[in-house]
Amino acid sequence: MPTRVWLASFAVRHGIPLIDGGIKEFTGRVQTYLPGKACIACNIPLDRYAEIMELRNPCEGVEFGAQASFTTISSIIAGVQANEAMKIIAGLPTLEGVLLMDFLNNKYSKMDLERNPLCFVCGSEDTKSVSVDKSEENSE
Ligand SMILES: [Zn+2]
Repeated sequence: MPTRVWLASFAVRHGIPLIDGGIKEFTGRVQTYLPGKACIACNIPLDRYAEIMELRNPCEGVEFGAQASFTTISSIIAGVQANEAMKIIAGLPTLEGVLLMDFLNNKYSKMDLERNPLCFVCGSEDTKSVSVDKSEENSE
């Protein structure tokens, strides 16, 4: 997840799209970020950032009992991401929100996301400077 936040920051700073995808066991998700829309960090509260980053980082430690994902699932997620890229290139409407896919139960849903004006990645410069100021106050 920290890598995703870093990529989101890069996309926001440079005003470029980011098509994020992920899989876990039999589930997958895709989110297309377009400049000015909700980024992948918009739903992460700043005061819980460290906690959530620790929970969402699958690279640290092995989750006991976790089911390996089928290669078909990673192929489907990659296909949806490539389709989103093609839509951006063609100037067609893209996915808004997060597309959630449960391949075990064949359930698919979309979660709408609102841009968070207080987001530490894509919020206003005033918000970002306030966040930095708060962290500096806490470190003293
Ligand atoms: Zn954001």
